[in-house]
Amino acid sequence: MKTFHDLRDKSLQELLDGRKQGLRVVGTYCAYCPKELILAAGAVPVSLCGTREEPIPAAEEELPRNLCPMIKSSYGFAITDTCPYFALSELIVAETTCDGKKKMFELMDKKKPVHVMQLPNVQDSEAALKMWAGEIQRLRLRLEEQLQVTITDEAIWEAIRLVNEERQALKAVHDLNQGNPPLLPGLNLLTASWTVKFASDQREVIRLANQLVAEKRAQAPQAKSGKPRVLLTGCPVGIGSEKVVRLLDELGADMVAMENCSGYKTLDIVASEEHKDPIMALAEKYLKIPCSCMSPNPHRLELLKSMLHDFQVDAVIDLTWQACHTYNIEAYDVERLVKAASLPFLHLESDYSTSDIESLKVRIEALLEMTDK
Ligand code: SF4
Ligand code: SF4
Repeated sequence: MKTFHDLRDKSLQELLDGRKQGLRVVGTYCAYCPKELILAAGAVPVSLCGTREEPIPAAEEELPRNLCPMIKSSYGFAITDTCPYFALSELIVAETTCDGKKKMFELMDKKKPVHVMQLPNVQDSEAALKMWAGEIQRLRLRLEEQLQVTITDEAIWEAIRLVNEERQALKAVHDLNQGNPPLLPGLNLLTASWTVKFASDQREVIRLANQLVAEKRAQAPQAKSGKPRVLLTGCPVGIGSEKVVRLLDELGADMVAMENCSGYKTLDIVASEEHKDPIMALAEKYLKIPCSCMSPNPHRLELLKSMLHDFQVDAVIDLTWQACHTYNIEAYDVERLVKAASLPFLHLESDYSTSDIESLKVRIEALLEMTDK
C-alpha cells in the first residue's frame, strides 16, 4: 500500500519535471470525462475534484453556501491557487452533470479555459447516444486546437486498450474484498481508488494494481472476519472527505465496497474494442455510467443489487453531500432496494466538516448493531 500512499506526491513531481520538457496536463472533474481522448492527445489527465474543506470558505465568497461541498471545494482550490494540479492544467474538461457543477464551471472559465461537454440526462436512447458522440468529437477537436496536436483514430484505440486494462486491474483491487476475510481495509481501498486519479502514467497504475492484488492474495489470512461488512454508496468520497470510512474502521466494521464514482461504479464499464468507430465506442462506454444525474437511473440499482450479493454485504450506508439533490432523492429507491434484501440501511447527509462526527458515530453504531455480527 505504501506505493499507493506515495503515488500522488510522486506523480506531482513527475508532472512538474515533465512540464519543463513540454508535457501537457488536462484537468477533469467527473467520471464522464473520456480520458482516452486526453491520453490520445499525448497529455496527462488529472482529477481535480475537491475533497478537502480548507478552500470552502474562499469559495463561499463567490458561490452560494447552499451548494454541495465537492463543488465548493473544487472551486475554492481553483480560485485560491492552492491545487498544484489545477495550476498545471492548461485546459479543464467539464460536463453538464448537476446544476451546481455546470453553473460553477461558468465562473471557473474566467480563471482558466474550461471546455464544457453537454451530457445528456438519459442513457437508453439513440438520440442521447448520438448527441453524446457528437460531444466527444467536439472535445477531440478542442483538444487538438488547445494542444496543437492531431488525435488519430489509432491513438484513440491505443488509449482505449490502455484504459480498459487499467479498469480491469482496478476492479481486481476492489474485488479483493469479495471474500471473507476482505483483503483490503476500507481506508486502504479508498486510498488506492483515490490516488490513482492523479497518476502521471496509467501503465504504472496497472502495474501497482496487479502487484497489490498478487501480494494480498499471497498473504491472505485463513481466519474469517466476524465484523459487519458494509457497502458505501452515494456521493463520491476522497482523502479529506473520508470521515464515514474512518468511522466505520474505528467502530469495528469492514467497509468492503464503495459503489460511488470514486469506487466501483465505473470499473465494470469498458469501451468495446470491436467497434468500428472509436468515438462511438467511447460514447457508448461513458453514457452507461449510472450516476444520479441520469434520469431515470435504473442501472445504479442493478449495480447495487449485484454488489450486495458479490460482496456479501451486511449493511448499506448511502452518503449524500449536503445540497446534492440527485443523490438525496435517489436515496429513497436505494433504501427500498436494500430493505427488500432484508439488510439494514442508513442514509447520511453531511458535508466535509467534522462538526457532526459524534452524531454520525451514534447513527453508524446503531446501524452496525442491527447486523447480526
Ligand atoms: S457523482 Fe456523478 S456527476 Fe459527480 S463526479 Fe461522480 S459521475 Fe460525475
Ligand atoms: S456530489 Fe452531487 S451535487 Fe455534488 S457535484 Fe456530484 S452530483 Fe453534483
